[in-house]
Amino acid sequence: MLNVEEKVVILTGASSGIGEATAKVVLSARREERLQKLKSEIEKQGGTVEYKVTDVASQQEVEELASFTLDTFGKIDVLVNNAGFMPLSYLYEKRVTEWEQMIDVNIKGVLYGIAAVLPYMRTRKQGHIINVSSVAGHIAFPSSAVYSGTKFAVRAITEGLRQEEVENNVRTTIISPGAVDTELVNCISNQEIKKGIEEQIMEFGLPAQAIANSILYAISQPDNIANKNFMFENG
Ligand code: NDP
Repeated sequence: MLNVEEKVVILTGASSGIGEATAKVVLSARREERLQKLKSEIEKQGGTVEYKVTDVASQQEVEELASFTLDTFGKIDVLVNNAGFMPLSYLYEKRVTEWEQMIDVNIKGVLYGIAAVLPYMRTRKQGHIINVSSVAGHIAFPSSAVYSGTKFAVRAITEGLRQEEVENNVRTTIISPGAVDTELVNCISNQEIKKGIEEQIMEFGLPAQAIANSILYAISQPDNIANKNFMFENG
């Protein structure tokens, strides 16, 4: 496809859901067996792919992911910050550990990704950072306060990055999917909320492939075109 074949793409959250359907070159997540399986599937279809087990909540591991990519493929064209965690709950439940995990993965993980590639991309005067927010990054609803907070933050960080780096030709894209049929609901420990989200997904959930297509679309545009913001909702 136009302007994609030669690109080296790092993808976080590649072991399931949206990431699994997008996978291009360097896959990362924590579950190695999933990454290994996906690598084999992509290779069977003729793709070039490597993986590195990475916890995005560890700055050191994210830095090592970027170094691994440079050592393996010689460059980094695109970083897709896709890894995410969504244990929805009401604030009064005080699930503080889950709040902290969301902040660690959804906010700090994105920042660590940016930190790991930005100096390189600025020097090279070329690069593209795609951050996956959510419709929940535009609106909040009961049980989404903390998750939405993290996804609003992803948008704010990406917009700030865009303004700071547009002159250095480091492009940015925000992807804001609506409900997508993936494993994300499995981390919701409040069973009533989990059931409600599962029902929404059954009724109007998007296939992960639709989000993967939007990421591919953003990557495939000519280098002087900024794709600032995509939102995807059914209907
Ligand atoms: P999945 O749960 O299927 O995938 C999440 C991915 O993130 C997995 O590959 C998981 O891999 C990875 N991940 C989670 N925690 C970490 C971590 N600490 N370090 C590295 N990787 C991690 O969900 P989706 O595919 O749906 O989610 C992808 C993105 O899309 C997320 O940012 C999510 O917030 C966003 N999104 C999803 C929507 C939906 O309805 N599904 C709607 C809107 C946005 P592993 O466990 O192996 O580390």
